[in-house]
Amino acid sequence: MTPLLELENLEVVYHHVATAIQGVSLRVPPGAIVALLGTNGAGKTTTLRAISGFLGADDAQIVGGRVVFQGATVTGRPPHELARRGLVLVPERDKVFETLTVQENLRALVPGSLTDRGATRPPVTLEQVFHYFPVLAGRCRQLAGYLSGGERQMLALATALLCRPRVLLVDELSLGLAPLVVERLMTLVARLRDELGLAVLLVEQNAGAALAVASYGYIMEHGRIVYDGPAERLLAHGDVREFYLGVGHRAGRKSYTEVKQYQRRRRWF
Ligand code: ATP
Repeated sequence: MTPLLELENLEVVYHHVATAIQGVSLRVPPGAIVALLGTNGAGKTTTLRAISGFLGADDAQIVGGRVVFQGATVTGRPPHELARRGLVLVPERDKVFETLTVQENLRALVPGSLTDRGATRPPVTLEQVFHYFPVLAGRCRQLAGYLSGGERQMLALATALLCRPRVLLVDELSLGLAPLVVERLMTLVARLRDELGLAVLLVEQNAGAALAVASYGYIMEHGRIVYDGPAERLLAHGDVREFYLGVGHRAGRKSYTEVKQYQRRRRWF
């Protein structure tokens, strides 16, 4: 199937010198949830920022490869243009304006350019948003700063939804949340895929939660993709289970790469 979003050998450097990701290639087919997994500092957030055009604020730039969206090269295009095309980021941090109410957040983050133009996609209404996130309807007048962690994630997803995404780029949905809340959020993401036909690139440290809803996964370490495959293959893969899911007698090793090196050394002796 022709991918909706494709990265080809993407390379990003910070401050003109520090390479953060290198040779990163991945594909997101239409209507699929794809997981990008990895530990702290692996390069996941950098990858999402590179796709969505948000590198500039951190003095970072794409120095190699390309981002292809719906067949067009969009490498390094500005965030507002990418959002208008349907590539919408739900960031890891600063997801909501804490001093604004829920309602103000929902209005503030949807610039006119996103609602007026791009008429090829039907608008997403507030009613639709409240259908998926009923808890927000009851909290419209409350300051976003008083929302729980899970509710903040919902508000961030709701705001992104109003931008009429074709692909949602979601950074660490599970961060700091209780397992039950994470499960609810992942179920919601799966509903958005099923009922609105959205594709989702889900960046997660919580591999178990992400692979429960994703159909395909990529594992990233030190700025490179080190392994990829269908979700069920990743879930069944001994090394992935050992390091990313914490299952197995050698669980707790430092990285997938380290597990592979350990196995190679054992074969030599
Ligand atoms: P985390 O989950 O902790 O955000 P990550 O997998 O998303 O981890 P990135 O945040 O993309 O990883 O970081 C990738 C590399 O880029 C790391 O080596 C990190 O130190 C570096 N990096 C990230 N942000 C900056 C920045 N603003 N300036 C310089 N280097 C940065």
